[in-house]
Amino acid sequence: MASLDLDTPWLASSIESFDGSLDIHIEEVSSSASLDSLDKSKSIIHCSQTIPKPPPLPAKICQRTKNQRCLTKSCFVPKETKDLWDRLFREGYAADVHIITENGSVIPAHYSVLCVASAVLENFLQQSKAKNGIRYIKIPGLPYDAIYVFIRFLYSSCYDEGEMKKFVLHLLVLSHSYSVPSLKKVCVDLLEQRWLTTENVIDVLQLAKNCDAPRLSLICVRMIVKDFKTISLTEGWKVMKRANPSLEQELLESVVEADSRKEERLKKIEEKKVYLQLYEAMEALLHICKEGCRTIGPCDKVLKGSQVSCPFPACKGIETLVRHFSICKTRVPGGCMQCKRMWQLLELHSRMCCEPDLCKVPLCRHFKEKMQQQSKKDEAKWKLLVSKVMATKNAFGPFMSRRSSFS
Ligand SMILES: [Zn+2]
Ligand SMILES: [Zn+2]
Ligand SMILES: [Zn+2]
Repeated sequence: MASLDLDTPWLASSIESFDGSLDIHIEEVSSSASLDSLDKSKSIIHCSQTIPKPPPLPAKICQRTKNQRCLTKSCFVPKETKDLWDRLFREGYAADVHIITENGSVIPAHYSVLCVASAVLENFLQQSKAKNGIRYIKIPGLPYDAIYVFIRFLYSSCYDEGEMKKFVLHLLVLSHSYSVPSLKKVCVDLLEQRWLTTENVIDVLQLAKNCDAPRLSLICVRMIVKDFKTISLTEGWKVMKRANPSLEQELLESVVEADSRKEERLKKIEEKKVYLQLYEAMEALLHICKEGCRTIGPCDKVLKGSQVSCPFPACKGIETLVRHFSICKTRVPGGCMQCKRMWQLLELHSRMCCEPDLCKVPLCRHFKEKMQQQSKKDEAKWKLLVSKVMATKNAFGPFMSRRSSFS
């Protein structure tokens, strides 16, 4: 997708200085002598260059189908009506307002249309004095073509997509300054959905903030945070850094915040994995001590043999651990790492076990008794661990994935 033309001198300077409002100058009648020398022919040529197309074929009449409300509830404007308003503007028929642009070109328009379309324009026009039935207002600081697209939209809501794309930022400013919400919505929607790029996002963000377009601002910030590496190298970023250091600071903070949120998320995922592994270990331990599996099990059970595939993912790990625990010479808490682990698993089981008297897991009752003498600090730590493992159990329940394994 081609990027927007953002290197126009207007944007570079105006983004830095634009504070959300535009100047409009009412041309005094007394100074209109100079207007006579305005290159009116230029605008006339411009208008005549865009000779209206032949009238379109009759549009399909809104079909009265099952939904009869289509005509009463919504406003259906036929293409002919839009074309009529578009022609009225482009031909400037009986125009009584001359809009003078930066380069002195004139866009003819109609007092009544402008007043109805924009309360801001109405205010300016009411203050201007008419000379020979024509009122003059000046819109400086913007290219002629952008103002032409703007005024055309006021008449018919029509626009050429190529022109809209070229001047969308100018039009956003114009629609905000002259209070034309329908145009503002078009600009904001097109930027949000199609025309936001890593090249223009910084400029768009600044204009969105000045033009009170909060959702567009938010979308820009998200894009900047997501692709900070690329965007921080763009020309737009460099210009913003010089002209608007507080915005740079704000964006850097957003990037840092997003990074720490991401880290936090990853940490939580890692934590969940550990709790899930512990839960699986608890399941496997119970399974080995109750039913037995492969090579190890309670004395009162006949093992099913190694050919039976075990459904407990942590079984093999626990089996090795139990085997080691039964033969290790340093079988004390804090001794060998594997034994230490076994002790912890046995204690965790005991804390989760509801029937220590019937339980076949070694030391289950022993730990239940030991609990009475434990310090409050240790007690709180264990309670937290048990609640996290139980929460994992409840989250995954019988549907939990059996792919991960205890290691
Ligand atoms: Zn097993
Ligand atoms: Zn050991
Ligand atoms: Zn138990």
